[in-house]
Amino acid sequence: MDFTQKFENKVLATVKQLANKSEKILVACSGGKDSTSVLFILHKYGYNAEGLMIDLHIGEWSKKNIENVRKFCGEHEIKLNIVDLNDELGSSVCFLRERVQTKAKISNCMICGVMKRWLLNKKARELGAAKLATGHNLDDEAETIIMNFMKGNPSLSLALGPKVGVIEDSMFVPRIKPLYFCLNADTRKYSQLMGFPVEYSPCPCSTGVFRRQVREMLAKLEKDNPKIKENTVRHFLKLLPRLREKYKERGAVMHCEVCGEPSRNKLCRLCTMLKVAKC
Ligand code: AMP
Ligand code: ZN
Repeated sequence: MDFTQKFENKVLATVKQLANKSEKILVACSGGKDSTSVLFILHKYGYNAEGLMIDLHIGEWSKKNIENVRKFCGEHEIKLNIVDLNDELGSSVCFLRERVQTKAKISNCMICGVMKRWLLNKKARELGAAKLATGHNLDDEAETIIMNFMKGNPSLSLALGPKVGVIEDSMFVPRIKPLYFCLNADTRKYSQLMGFPVEYSPCPCSTGVFRRQVREMLAKLEKDNPKIKENTVRHFLKLLPRLREKYKERGAVMHCEVCGEPSRNKLCRLCTMLKVAKC
């Protein structure tokens, strides 16, 4: 069996555990290799998949990614939904980030991540999706597990795993990660072999020094033990049910007083951030 077929089989084996073909799945498309591969494989094997892309208005980088995703979806006859972050939040991601960062020490990626998760969930729900699929891969997950471990707060990892279903709420669309067991290098190879029109360069605003350090550490260790990332993730998956059990009393899901979206607190993370920045 050739590499691309093996890769697709691996993704399909994961997806089988997370979704079924009758459900509508919105794939969160960044324009990168990971989410493009997810959308391609789900569509190829008969899943009811559409693309959902947020225009973040990060200059030429956003323009190029949108152009690529449009081209890809057009070629494969996949429905694409594009939402404009500026329209939804009333300001650009760059403006909001600068305002937040004058009041709080939060990284670019963290701020952008909160906005993206909020908007993706809202739009996926409005579009009637049963699942929201992201392009997170094995490397992303192993890095996050180790970062959270080093931050010393186990509850940070509650929202990890191949299916994020901690919040049981009709307004929350469960997020799934079809590339959960796929290495970043294999996804890149797959995307290149398939000739997908994608940008391989990272977002120009990404900073995340800590993640880079953890990535470099894992890359060094991987030379002696090629399974180190998979072992990290598999070990974590054995612990996750116990972790969720331990934190299950964290309080019922409420709805944010400002935006009405599902939240664990009176204000959701986005509205808390915007309040801090007085936006
Ligand atoms: P990142 O937060 O950039 O590491 O991206 C993680 C995942 O979020 C990607 O694999 C996509 O599934 C999704 N994502 C990132 N950027 C966008 C975007 N602009 N629009 C929709 N989904 C996105
Ligand atoms: Zn809110």
